[in-house]
Amino acid sequence: MKSKTTKVSRRNVLKKAAVVGGGAAATLLGGGVQAQAPSILTGTQAGRRFRAFVVFDNAPDTTIQASKASVEQVTMSALDENRVVVRTEACQVCYTIVGQAVANYNPARILGHGAVGVVEVVGSKVRRVQPGDRVIVANTPYCGQCYTCLRGRPDRCQMLPGAGNPMLPIGRLSMPVFTSNATPVDLSMLGCVGACGLGTALGVAPVEPASDVVVLGCGPVGLSAVQGARIKGASQIIAIDPIRARREVALRIGATIALDPNVEGMNLVAKVKDLCKFPTDRKFAGGRDWAPNGNNIGPDYVIEAVGGDRFPPRAEVGPDPTGILPLQQAWQMCSSAGHVTTVSVGQRGNFTVPAGQWSNGAKNHHPGNMNGVSTLRDMQRFARLVDTGQFNARALATATYPLDRAREAIQAVSDRTTVGAVITFA
Ligand SMILES: [Zn+2]
Ligand SMILES: [Zn+2]
Repeated sequence: MKSKTTKVSRRNVLKKAAVVGGGAAATLLGGGVQAQAPSILTGTQAGRRFRAFVVFDNAPDTTIQASKASVEQVTMSALDENRVVVRTEACQVCYTIVGQAVANYNPARILGHGAVGVVEVVGSKVRRVQPGDRVIVANTPYCGQCYTCLRGRPDRCQMLPGAGNPMLPIGRLSMPVFTSNATPVDLSMLGCVGACGLGTALGVAPVEPASDVVVLGCGPVGLSAVQGARIKGASQIIAIDPIRARREVALRIGATIALDPNVEGMNLVAKVKDLCKFPTDRKFAGGRDWAPNGNNIGPDYVIEAVGGDRFPPRAEVGPDPTGILPLQQAWQMCSSAGHVTTVSVGQRGNFTVPAGQWSNGAKNHHPGNMNGVSTLRDMQRFARLVDTGQFNARALATATYPLDRAREAIQAVSDRTTVGAVITFA
């Protein structure tokens, strides 16, 4: 019978040779794999071998070329009842990976987060996915039960490794099943950078129609924010990036104007404010109280996605490698009751704001991560945006590399010579 031959049986799945590449990072202990948390051995998956890009024991200040990261054969030791095994098809490479590739991990860690793959095996307690499902493995898993999750910020889940917890199984809660015709390469953009960028425009500070939006930094996160602002109906979207190629992409996918911070120099804030003048400056006629460099005018939303340079880029260099200046500018240019949403990482230093404005003003600041994106709720929506062409994922996935060339992918992301990179698994 036809239905019998097309059904994925657990037994057949287990007969397949190579398995898995992680979606989120896993740690390695000794010669064997230990995935993200101490796990209960079921025995069913032990001994399966897969290849992965592993990093460990780097010297301080190493470069990507000198990193000990390498593709290794790894043997799986455990699949607990809450886990799933996913055969990875594509995994995005964001700037976070640049730092991880040169980090000194001990125990070793499998690099990679934000992946797309097909479920091969599920633990006995897994209900949400089944073998054969294509899934997005998002960069930020969440428990759905802790205080932060229940308050609507699952992207800040208290169970995240960053909160001091051991790495957690990713199978049960962060693997939305979706239906999509898009390629795994395109969909892998949603696992980290796309979700982060869309979160800035659709998440805790949703962009309103007819608004002015500024996006500082047009890497894959910023370019996703540009598209999110367009999807939400912003009237003006100002994209700012020192790299010409990225400004060109921004204009192609929704920005109405693109500015080079190196050209604008210290005039950038005034220039943006000037661009965000309302058609009328009469306060009682629906306009704004306009004055040169006045605090009332400015964009309704400023989305900052620049961050510090871990290594000097080989593309056009921005005005501040520490990443502090764009944060200052984001705060300064925002209108008095506007929203500043920041998602960047890797800054070195502190930034200052006028104390009175901070304590008694009306600017809203929304920090970080995925800005309230709930992967289980939102990934289906994001995948649909890809399918309908509303979100152009291919504009972000500008280079693909096989696993054996993972180091080159990370180098290109570090050099900023590509917008985003994707590692594909044959
Ligand atoms: Zn990432
Ligand atoms: Zn939680």
